Amino acid sequence: MRALYLGRFNPPHIGHQKVLEYILDQQDIDEIIVLIGSGEKAYSLKNPFTGGERVEMMTKLVQSSFDLSKFYIIAIPDINRNTIWPAHVIDLVPPFDVIYTNNSLVQQLFQNLSNKQVRETPLIERDKYSGKIIRNNIVNGKKWKHLVPSEVYSLIKKYGGVERIIALTVSDEVIE
Ligand code: NAP
Repeated sequence: MRALYLGRFNPPHIGHQKVLEYILDQQDIDEIIVLIGSGEKAYSLKNPFTGGERVEMMTKLVQSSFDLSKFYIIAIPDINRNTIWPAHVIDLVPPFDVIYTNNSLVQQLFQNLSNKQVRETPLIERDKYSGKIIRNNIVNGKKWKHLVPSEVYSLIKKYGGVERIIALTVSDEVIE
């Protein structure tokens, strides 16, 4: 069966890598679509990286630890109609059987408005591996290199991600 794993991946980190391992370990799953949500959003404290940058970071993460031929990595934009969002997702990705998500809105929308199976993923060392913690550590000059695969670290440096995130704090937007 093919699984879809959804997130914003801002940035992809070792927690996501471990969740991918968990999904591929399931007896009935042989392929994964990694779906990058909010693909149109970028240059904000909650979504600092572009959809394309997140596709590249996730591709390098997968290449470094898994067989890339078992994966599809796709970014899609949000739409402002929750009730037709599952159809929007289904329209833009290869066919899939089951969606892995811990987001309760996403669970409800897919349960009520699609015929896809919905499954949760384990939360892996959440107090450590979290996009929000990584973004906050970057802002506060704290260590974050150990929280992302080395390929992702190199790309964030190449994109000027550290400088970008710090520059975004000049506005008074709250960090989420
Ligand atoms: P989210 O609301 O963006 O984030 C959920 C939070 O849970 C994040 O902090 C994430 O951490 C964390 N998390 C999720 N699974 C985890 C796991 N297995 N282990 C550890 N932490 C986990 O939700 P999302 O599920 O990541 O992304 C949902 C996407 O769907 C968004 O892009 C959203 O905009 C989109 N969406 C769009 C519509 C619409 O367009 N109408 C409707 C519904 C949803 P990390 O930051 O560390 O990943």
